[in-house]
Amino acid sequence: MATTTKPTPIDWRARAAELQFDGRALIGGQRVAAASGETFDCVSPIDARVLTKVARGRGPDVDAAVASARQAFDDGRWSGKPPAVRKKVLQRFSELILGAKEELALLETLDVGKPIRDVHLIDIPMAIEAIAWYAEAADKLYDEVAPTGHDVVAMVTREPMGVVGVVLPWNFPLMLACWKIGPALVAGNTVVIKPAEQSPLTAIRLAELALEAGMPPGVINVVPGFGPTAGKALGLHPDVDALTFTGSGEIGKMFMAYAAQSNMKRVSLECGGKSPNIIFADAPDIDTAARNAAFGIFYNQGEVCAAGSRLVVQESIKDEVLEKVIGWARKMQPGDPLDPKSRAGAIVSLEQTERICGYIAKGSQQGARLALGGKQVLTQTGGFYIEPTIFDGVAGDMTIAREEIFGPVLCILPYDTEEEAIRVANDTPYGLSSYVFGDTHEHANKVGRRIRAGNVHLNGASLDVCGSFGGYKQSGLGREWGAFGFEEFLEVKSVFGADPNAKAGGLF
Ligand code: NAD
Ligand code: MN
Repeated sequence: MATTTKPTPIDWRARAAELQFDGRALIGGQRVAAASGETFDCVSPIDARVLTKVARGRGPDVDAAVASARQAFDDGRWSGKPPAVRKKVLQRFSELILGAKEELALLETLDVGKPIRDVHLIDIPMAIEAIAWYAEAADKLYDEVAPTGHDVVAMVTREPMGVVGVVLPWNFPLMLACWKIGPALVAGNTVVIKPAEQSPLTAIRLAELALEAGMPPGVINVVPGFGPTAGKALGLHPDVDALTFTGSGEIGKMFMAYAAQSNMKRVSLECGGKSPNIIFADAPDIDTAARNAAFGIFYNQGEVCAAGSRLVVQESIKDEVLEKVIGWARKMQPGDPLDPKSRAGAIVSLEQTERICGYIAKGSQQGARLALGGKQVLTQTGGFYIEPTIFDGVAGDMTIAREEIFGPVLCILPYDTEEEAIRVANDTPYGLSSYVFGDTHEHANKVGRRIRAGNVHLNGASLDVCGSFGGYKQSGLGREWGAFGFEEFLEVKSVFGADPNAKAGGLF
């Protein structure tokens, strides 16, 4: 008789105690300290412990990294390789990420406080998926021949842009790095990554794995540092051809200004949202809708750009939905992020915790009714944790209904008619994502069509890198994922060729 043995659960605490950190930058294939010798503390929000010192890059470090990326681009050591060769390197890269998944998961959890369970379920698989998808696509995209007359042939080709600056946020550091560098690198560009100061560790490790996979030195560089110094230097750099950013709208707009003040580099932005989750009274399964509503805002402690932070629910079922959402929310109380049973972890930093608490206070001041939570918890750990928080009776003009809180705070906005639901859903400067629960797919789809957002999820949420991701309105510029993700990092060139022996060639 066959016996089944359960795999021994991993003791993440013990693993964490053995983990080695190296916070140096990676420039031109070398691990280096900042030119100034400065470092900053890499803090874990789990217990406010300093994990390691990280190189504090500034202008000169960004200059060195861009120079290295420029040289690597210009000499063709990467861009000059056939796409099939880049494909193999990227495929190997995705395999190495898989091989290092436990180390990467641990680094991510320690650095940003998200539950280790979620890193394994979502961040790592989605990171690998993105690299593997783009690797596979490398030699499957064809250029075009334009429909000119017979005496001229026009080839429409796509070429890499050159040096791409990648500025990252702290909520999904590893996964978002891969969403960006996957298409940028496969297309033949070279990159300089500036991770968020709250979460530098996985980007550095990722770049080491890329080198190990056979990516030539200089193709991928990482300069940790702060936004107003390192981030700004990258944004203003005259030799950076494209800049891809994920983070707040305020800083996203600065990157547009940096581009305007420097070399008109192409800027693509993913700037978060205030995404509506509409539930109609005739949705057949209110419990599933409520579960989705709770996970949609409390997953990753609400530090999710596409979080369904506004629950737009029909008045007749509001109390029933609220009660069920509260039930699911209670299952998402924060716990030790290193415990695989924890469904929510720590807020990334003290600063972000204070921001969120400020919003919670404002919600009460402006007259919303606190239906659940609202407090900081687990303070004995020294870390930063906020319980799932729900405000009922939120009016559309309240601050908590308009601004991105980026924490575990759900706002309930009741409505009566379908027209009102659509108006409320669209009453936001953002347009990243949206969720609709209706009685039929057709009904949900009809409503989804009228929502001004880059993503619409009908009757449940899903993520698939072969779709598109990005926002309408002030949620950003451009799209990630799939073939759309490539476009951000490619120039289009038409090569017109005439027959030199033809009697009258060309315009002149
Ligand atoms: P942020 O926009 O300030 O930081 C994002 C990145 O930009 C970081 O790498 C940072 O170092 C860099 N940066 C900051 N200031 C800069 C400057 N002056 N010039 C150049 N680069 C600069 O985001 P944050 O401070 O980490 O979070 C603030 C708010 O942003 C959050 O509360 C949330 O609302 C939003 N946010 C959104 C996302 C998202 O995925 N859309 C991610 C993180 C944060
Ligand atoms: Mn950190």
